[in-house]
Amino acid sequence: MQRAEEIANCPECGHQIRVDRRYVTWCDKCDWNVDPTPREDHTPPWRLRLEQRLAESLFRELETGKIHRPGWDAARIGAHLLSALILLLPLIAFLAGVALIAFYRPLWLSGMLALLAFGLAFLFHPRAARLQEDAQPVPRDEAPTLYAVLDELADAIGTRRVSAVVVSTEANLWYQQIGWRFRPVVGIGLPLWAGLRPQERIAVLAHEFGHGRHGDARSGWVLGGAWSVLQELNETFSEGHGDRIRRELGYDEATGATMVSRMLNATVGIVVRGVAWLLERLAFRGSQRAEYLADRKAGEIAGSEATAQALERLVLADASYRALERALRFPTGIDPLEAVRREVTEVPAREIERQLRVSRLREARTDTTHPPTYLRTRLIRSRPATTARFVLGIDRSRAIDNELQPAATKALAELRAAL
Ligand SMILES: [Zn+2]
Ligand SMILES: [Zn+2]
Repeated sequence: MQRAEEIANCPECGHQIRVDRRYVTWCDKCDWNVDPTPREDHTPPWRLRLEQRLAESLFRELETGKIHRPGWDAARIGAHLLSALILLLPLIAFLAGVALIAFYRPLWLSGMLALLAFGLAFLFHPRAARLQEDAQPVPRDEAPTLYAVLDELADAIGTRRVSAVVVSTEANLWYQQIGWRFRPVVGIGLPLWAGLRPQERIAVLAHEFGHGRHGDARSGWVLGGAWSVLQELNETFSEGHGDRIRRELGYDEATGATMVSRMLNATVGIVVRGVAWLLERLAFRGSQRAEYLADRKAGEIAGSEATAQALERLVLADASYRALERALRFPTGIDPLEAVRREVTEVPAREIERQLRVSRLREARTDTTHPPTYLRTRLIRSRPATTARFVLGIDRSRAIDNELQPAATKALAELRAAL
């Protein structure tokens, strides 16, 4: 293969930089052009600094401290109280409605007030987490190796074994407790999975199981339940896609129905979004801490170096999804997931380093579910290295890929049809 590399001088500091035409040219000395497409961001600088400081103070707490489980600080207690209130609201509203009808007269007035109370109870009723519709299940009897590995991992970490595995075409791996019985389900996003080496797969899975053990912001049933209620209400009371199109096309007649929906969006919607914002802030530190602890668990199980490398690969998630889309749009005869794997494993270390620096600029504020990747990898590498307690060999890793094949084919066909 022809080497696509040459040398240039940084226009900012004159330092010699390597140029690879396939990737962004940037300077590792002064960070020139490290983020050529910065996101539009109107957050005031003082807030960015504050959030970065908060992220780094939490990092230091874990770096030096002896924290082994998410503690109960004031914010976490507050988050649980707020969530409990949100979950109790429908019950209180329902009982109030019944009491109004039973004891309050005149009946026409109590009936109307009770209706309002019942409406509130209905709006705030808790919802069980559901699977996404496009997720393809992988039955246990068709994937013995995969489930054996997952069961061994769950036992090693001390969490419940999974009830199901699903695959999707998102560049993501997730762990969720589904339904009212909170059955643990692991979701495997194919583009991300394809680009991971065997031991990195174990690291990512161990991280997810670490959430099963320590929980995270959305997995406990109190916080998770309240969060699902807010999520659903937010969708109900925000401007829908249809409204926007109608307005852009100029059909902006103020009919009664649109007026009412706009009024509800402006009142109920704002309250819901405000409460969701507050809950997110309260749960923020706890959820970030849970992420670090899940990383630590992953390091103990998969080995610290594999875990750090897996996290570094996660910065290529978007790139791997784009590679999958391209492979589906312009088929070349190579299996699309193999195309993704090649593209991702070809990315040079220098490009990954650039993306990590971008994560420092962006993630302290944008990715609120996980701490910035550069801090996560630094934390793993700053602790004494651990060797893997669980090793996934190449053949077992291949066997898993074969077992995923039928579900993967379906998921890819659906994505292809949607493109
Ligand atoms: Zn420079
Ligand atoms: Zn996580």
